[in-house]
Amino acid sequence: MTYYAGIDLGGTKTYCVVIDEKGNILAREKMKIGTDKNMNHILDIVVECYKAAVSRSNITEDDVSAVGMAVPSAVNTEKQILLNAPNLGWKNIKIGEIMADKLKKPVFVDNDVNLGTFGEYTFGKAKEYKNVYGIFVGTGVGGGYIHGGQLVRGASFTAGEIGHMIIKQGGTMCNCGNQGCLEAIAGKVGIIKHIERKIEEKGKTTKLDEIAPNWRNSVGASALHKAIKSKDKLTIKAVERSAEAIGVACSNVINTIGVDAIILGGGIIEELSDIYLPIIRLTIQECSMANGGSNFPVIISELGDDAVALGAAWQVVEIYGKK
Ligand SMILES: [Zn+2]
Repeated sequence: MTYYAGIDLGGTKTYCVVIDEKGNILAREKMKIGTDKNMNHILDIVVECYKAAVSRSNITEDDVSAVGMAVPSAVNTEKQILLNAPNLGWKNIKIGEIMADKLKKPVFVDNDVNLGTFGEYTFGKAKEYKNVYGIFVGTGVGGGYIHGGQLVRGASFTAGEIGHMIIKQGGTMCNCGNQGCLEAIAGKVGIIKHIERKIEEKGKTTKLDEIAPNWRNSVGASALHKAIKSKDKLTIKAVERSAEAIGVACSNVINTIGVDAIILGGGIIEELSDIYLPIIRLTIQECSMANGGSNFPVIISELGDDAVALGAAWQVVEIYGKK
């Protein structure tokens, strides 16, 4: 039996799975990366997390053939260079080489949502479709595009960067420097900023002050859910606005590249799918030119935290396992 590992490096935590050659998960491990964004410090935690997952799998590091790693950044997959990870403050890093050196085995690095979409495509409900687009909503918004069963990365490795599709010209300022990006409206940061704006402009109040007093700096999907359940108008409006923006983005994807299905994932959508899904379906019906837009398959991720790490591991099975 051959074994592989998949690592998901996020902005606040790292998650690792070890799988066998059939894709069965032997072990999972999760570690926080803290607030120090120093690269060596964080990569040491990534290695520690990987070693703990291997040890929990009752195999040795020598048994692991190759490791896939997902990072929150566009990646030049040919040269294995991490291009720009704003949440970590890292730019132009030869991440593949550094990790191969640390783990002493072949490593393949790619964008996290590319690999999450690939995970859902391979192991989730989207496996019956050949052309799918994944949209993951968390702190930001990421995308992944699979055509004919293969990840499409594009000439500049930005084929999945749907978070920076401009859906409102002159709209809200985005961290990337443009205005009106999908992410600036629909991501968690966009949701928080919208609530803040309404408080400043109209002197309104939000129940988030009681539910999550530190909400302006960081708010979890579950706190947003609680605020919605307690009928907090500002939160409901901001989340509905996010859902409409995701619906517009889905329609744009359906109209321009004609995929068979859309997969929606990430903490925000998974926790709040009962709000997102009806609004997204309605927006697709209104804006999509596809025949039968009302029946277009929109699938909610079912792999949860495993999606990205599992996709990373399976990508190296495809690269190294079939040689
Ligand atoms: Zn942007």
